[in-house]
Amino acid sequence: MKRRALLTTALATPFIASAETTARVVVIGGGFGGATAARFLLQFDPRLDVTLIESSPTFTACPFSNAVLVGLRGMDAQRFGYKGVAASGVRVVHATASAIDRTVRTITLDNGTSLPWDRLILSPGIDIAWDALPGYNEAAAERMPHAWKAGPQTILLKQQLDTIADDGTVVMSVPANPYRCPPGPYERASLIAWYLKTHKPRARILVLDAKDVFSKQKLFQDAWAKLYPETLRWVGLSDGGKVTRADPAAMTVETDFSTYKADVINIIPPQRAGRIAVIAGTADKSGWCPIDPVSFESRLVPNIHVIGDAAIAGAMPKSAFAANAQAKACALGVARLLNGEAPGEPRLINTCYSLIAPEYGISVAGVYRPANGVLADIEGAGGTSPLDAPDEQRHQEATYAEAWFQTIGREVFG
Ligand SMILES: Cc1cc2nc3c(=O)[nH]c(=O)nc-3n(C[C@H](O)[C@H](O)[C@H](O)COP(=O)(O)OP(=O)(O)OC[C@H]3O[C@@H](n4cnc5c(N)ncnc54)[C@H](O)[C@@H]3O)c2cc1C
Repeated sequence: MKRRALLTTALATPFIASAETTARVVVIGGGFGGATAARFLLQFDPRLDVTLIESSPTFTACPFSNAVLVGLRGMDAQRFGYKGVAASGVRVVHATASAIDRTVRTITLDNGTSLPWDRLILSPGIDIAWDALPGYNEAAAERMPHAWKAGPQTILLKQQLDTIADDGTVVMSVPANPYRCPPGPYERASLIAWYLKTHKPRARILVLDAKDVFSKQKLFQDAWAKLYPETLRWVGLSDGGKVTRADPAAMTVETDFSTYKADVINIIPPQRAGRIAVIAGTADKSGWCPIDPVSFESRLVPNIHVIGDAAIAGAMPKSAFAANAQAKACALGVARLLNGEAPGEPRLINTCYSLIAPEYGISVAGVYRPANGVLADIEGAGGTSPLDAPDEQRHQEATYAEAWFQTIGREVFG
């Protein structure tokens, strides 16, 4: 009852803290990290005045978007609204944050509104580094989709795969680390291979990779040898896999050794933290944001915290699972700091599932803690699916993957 009274007051008088409110926290980015942080802040301290700024009225999730590409799932299953977040007491504002004043602690939105904050949490995800791969820019992405932000790009790549010739070729370019979702490109390559083998058996996919070592590599490569020996070929860095130029007019990509022409080219380009993290002054020369691993406070700007893909989170990968875990730890840290307490030292978990075929799932899990100023692996905790698992276990993991998506969707968006 008391909480409802607080909410009503807050909604009736936007951006002015009620008498019961201890502090104002603004969260920018309503994806896996930001929406979680906003909701958990209120769970940890219901007196906080929490505002979530998100550009889009609907969030489109990347996990499982590879299944959308090959027709195993509809786009609707990827979409989440913000009613649940608002119902939990968060003031949700659909606008884009465009400027941050670190001295007087305000943010400015693209609709001209200015909001004050005592602590700011940034979870803006990634931006594509459009200047990183010669020939690849926003116009090129309309012919050679990246589909690394789910939405229109996912639909475009799906349309291209739908209409590829029966003996067509797909080329995929995978960047060097770090990037969003380390196993994501290999899940995508697997599912595209499954789609081609099933619907266009003479078509082929070539994966050109800027590295030699990747997440769950042995599991992927064993499965590829078993399921897609004719359909999928992977070329690593030492064999000339790094794409150095894209030519959308010719539909070719170049490496140091060859030029490859294809009917469908999926470029997963280099990335950096979402632009607002740069505007805030929280990104370093690498393009990502160094953070304190206990509270996720920026190492560059006090009172601003960065979570999710934008953060340099040590051994933790850039995943939705990780963003969600970091958000909870950060929310607790912020709530404690605002109450004059020290943030507790978190333990964080990540699990990433990948589908190699519709009923063939694998996973990697890790547990992390702050050590020597970074988030480090706790040795002996976590691991990957067994290499020699029976089909039944692979099937079970595909089921767990779907269950994980349902669970995290409910937890983040209500
Ligand atoms: C193909 C693919 C498959 C994946 N599969 C998995 C998987 O199976 N499991 C897994 O755990 N992870 C997976 N991921 C990774 C996962 O999607 C990301 O790690 C996760 O979304 C990161 O969360 P985030 O909060 O950092 O960013 P996001 O979830 O991208 O949220 C960022 C939000 O911030 C908003 N925003 C940005 N700037 C502003 C601004 N200035 N003002 C207002 N709003 C702003 C954006 O609109 C966006 O909604 C996958 C990714 C891809 C590409």
